[in-house]
Amino acid sequence: MVMAQGMQWHSRFGRWRARAGAMFMAALVVASPVAAQQTETREGVNVGENSRIAKLVPAEKLERLATEQYGQMMRAAAGKGALLPAEHPQVQRVRRISAQIVGQSQRFNSRASQWKWEVNVVNDPQINAFCMPGGKIGIYTGILEKLKLTDDELAMVIGHEVAHALREHARERAAKGTLTEVGAGLVTSILGLGDLGRMAVGAGAQLVTLGFSRGNETDADLVGLDVAARAGYDPRSAIRVWEKMGAASKGAPPQWLSTHPASTTRISEIRKHLDETLPLYARAKGLSVDSLPPYTSNWGEPIR
Ligand SMILES: [Zn+2]
Repeated sequence: MVMAQGMQWHSRFGRWRARAGAMFMAALVVASPVAAQQTETREGVNVGENSRIAKLVPAEKLERLATEQYGQMMRAAAGKGALLPAEHPQVQRVRRISAQIVGQSQRFNSRASQWKWEVNVVNDPQINAFCMPGGKIGIYTGILEKLKLTDDELAMVIGHEVAHALREHARERAAKGTLTEVGAGLVTSILGLGDLGRMAVGAGAQLVTLGFSRGNETDADLVGLDVAARAGYDPRSAIRVWEKMGAASKGAPPQWLSTHPASTTRISEIRKHLDETLPLYARAKGLSVDSLPPYTSNWGEPIR
């Protein structure tokens, strides 16, 4: 479905290009890097272009609001003594893995290279993680500790969250929202909302009901697999992340189930795209796909 959208865009672009005369050469010069980017993206997952509806909301505006909100959240955490310091081993680990993933982000969003990426770890028991528009990443200690994430699994979580930002899902939500103005309330709702956070016991009802769409979730899963695999992390570990999530979400509120695809659906979707992403991982490791050992976690059976 998603791939079909991308191809549709391709052929439309092709027709437009065929019709364009010499007088549009200037426009083509501007457009050609986009076409080149499309060709490169064919290796790995193919999710097509970002939502065009999202463009109704200025990216700068949303990113500025996200920066403000992120600053407020981090200052509030610091005020409670819950912002882990830069020298903390978990902060260093999360920042190292995030930097590797961010290094692969350009192909999915050309603006990402200009973003002022920030990565922080908040000492909070919630199973939560998010990446706001403009590259503002927050990881809660709850997700690290309760799911006992390996580096590969943490990379899949970060990759998924970063993918939401790269694919501008919050911007799309804002554009599709019934509010004509990107009001503070809506922004609060669409930014903080770590989708993974909807599993958290402490998540407010508003966050539970205002998650990303299932389509956006699948999109973030696939793009997350792609960027994390290119960064040298085993995409099969994403299966283990969702298995761990499923085990940890026993007793989750029914609201969560209504807005979040079941883990088994996610896992089968992820499995379908391993053929596209395992070669990226193997190459990052200097191996062939056939010579990759099974993925071994600290929980459950090895994944082949
Ligand atoms: Zn998500």
